[in-house]
Amino acid sequence: MEVAMLCTRVSLLILILSLCSPYKFIQSPMDFGPLNLLPTTTTASSDFGRILFHSPAAVLKPQSSRDISLLLSFLSGSSLSKVTVAARGAGHSIHGQAQALDGIVVEMCSLPAEIELYKGGEGEISYADVSGGVMWIDLLEQSLKLGLAPRSWTDYLYLTVGGTLSNAGISGQTFKHGPQISNVLQLEVVTGRGEIVTCSPSKDADLFNAVLGGLGQFGIITRARILLQEAPQKVKWVRAFYDDFSTFTQNQELLVSMPDLVDYVEGFIVLNEQSLHSSSIAFPANVDFNPDFGTKNNPNIYYCIEFAVHNYQHENTNVEQVVEVISRQMSHMVSQLYSVEVSYFDFLNRVRMEEMSLRSIGLWEVHHPWLNMFVPKAGINDFRDLLMDNVSPDSFEGLILIYPLLRDKWDTNTSVVLPDSGSTDRVMYVVGILRSANPEGGCSYHCLQELLRRHRRIADTAGVHLGAKQYLAHHPTPSGWHQHFGRRWERFAERKTRFDPLRILGPGQGIFPRRDDNAAFGS
Ligand code: FAD
Repeated sequence: MEVAMLCTRVSLLILILSLCSPYKFIQSPMDFGPLNLLPTTTTASSDFGRILFHSPAAVLKPQSSRDISLLLSFLSGSSLSKVTVAARGAGHSIHGQAQALDGIVVEMCSLPAEIELYKGGEGEISYADVSGGVMWIDLLEQSLKLGLAPRSWTDYLYLTVGGTLSNAGISGQTFKHGPQISNVLQLEVVTGRGEIVTCSPSKDADLFNAVLGGLGQFGIITRARILLQEAPQKVKWVRAFYDDFSTFTQNQELLVSMPDLVDYVEGFIVLNEQSLHSSSIAFPANVDFNPDFGTKNNPNIYYCIEFAVHNYQHENTNVEQVVEVISRQMSHMVSQLYSVEVSYFDFLNRVRMEEMSLRSIGLWEVHHPWLNMFVPKAGINDFRDLLMDNVSPDSFEGLILIYPLLRDKWDTNTSVVLPDSGSTDRVMYVVGILRSANPEGGCSYHCLQELLRRHRRIADTAGVHLGAKQYLAHHPTPSGWHQHFGRRWERFAERKTRFDPLRILGPGQGIFPRRDDNAAFGS
């Protein structure tokens, strides 16, 4: 063992020297004793956005938390080193957040996929202990075998637990249960110093809170304890259409005010035929909605609310009646309400159907210039106008999601950034502009750059005038990040100094340049 450790140390030193060297003399696979670092893999330099492709110098496929600890302990003990490290989950980031240019990418999916379930008795909680690289779809499949499931989700389940907990993890259940980061009981984290720490709200709470929504800056999540609830068998899934934005948002707010009846609320803008049909693949109802989209110069815009009610068969809930009670209070377009009953699994896994359909026509692996923003309720009408000034309804490809969240379901001790609560509004909105830009369909380099410019314009204007904040944020400069965090910056920077003082972790976010690159920043 001693020999192996020495071998690792020597090998890591060679790696560091090679990474710091202008000549990059190590190019072949690297055997570092128990730590087998590979030269770059195709996945390590790419992500879902397909906008940035930063190659690392090496990739670690860890077999345990200890492997990650060994790497970070060594790098943090070497003042010579400028090496950075990024954890990569499923790589579904947009702007290279899980990449490490000339650094080391840790592929979290290589960790043994452990999922241990604990079903509590009467009055006790149930939870799952899972490794950080496990995907939510795998946790769902395993927990359903015991009739259990996590309470809070993302729309798409082929994302890792560590990846979404580093952001927030939101979906239509967030208004009721909070984001995924509000549904974690405990974490195992390897800090930037290489320490393996088990933390929770009552033990090393500062690290626990820092890491949740922490954009991979403070430590690598190697294990998480996720709260579970009893899983419904079926879900009544409802869609209702609107031709007026204010009525649409008022009805969404009505729905989130009824958590005893409603289990899920989202919504999207219907700009054109494509946006009507692309989001309907998984919704197996016969939707007889044939709106007049107007003309290019005078478009008609529609909106769709999507809500769901869980059907726990043993409780004898009459979901038809519940939906009837709810829909009687809604003001959607006449006869434009559709509902369907599906299994809970199919409901949660609905985006997979969209993925398979897009893959089959070559439209999944295209550029994805996405922008997600949290918008205060007071600014949502202005945000809608700003959005429409920057979108061409007839040619828009993708989906625009809009749905309300409730502030009091978020823990402000975590690292997540929300709009300042200047007013007493409990409601805020998330807006996701989820564009596809297909080079084969005519959107290559210049077109993509133009879309990115428009999104930046929306983000900057909404930030300055409406107090909106980006979710899954991307800021090209450290000063942009400084503004993003606003009054939360000092706490974020102080946490960085404590848990990753050499700024080794999360280089793809571009928040903290390595200390020796720019010693003045943020200090
Ligand atoms: P990666 O992209 O691999 O990593 C993201 C960040 O987290 C990087 O900074 C990385 O270094 C860091 N990281 C990864 N693993 C760890 C770890 N174990 N410990 C510490 N840091 C780590 N988000 C939502 O909230 N709701 C949605 O409904 C939703 N839907 C989506 C649908 C699609 C089709 C896609 C592509 C994305 C969606 N997202 C959604 C965004 C998604 O949650 C984020 O992109 C998330 O980061 C993806 O997880 P990942 O495992 O791919 O992370």
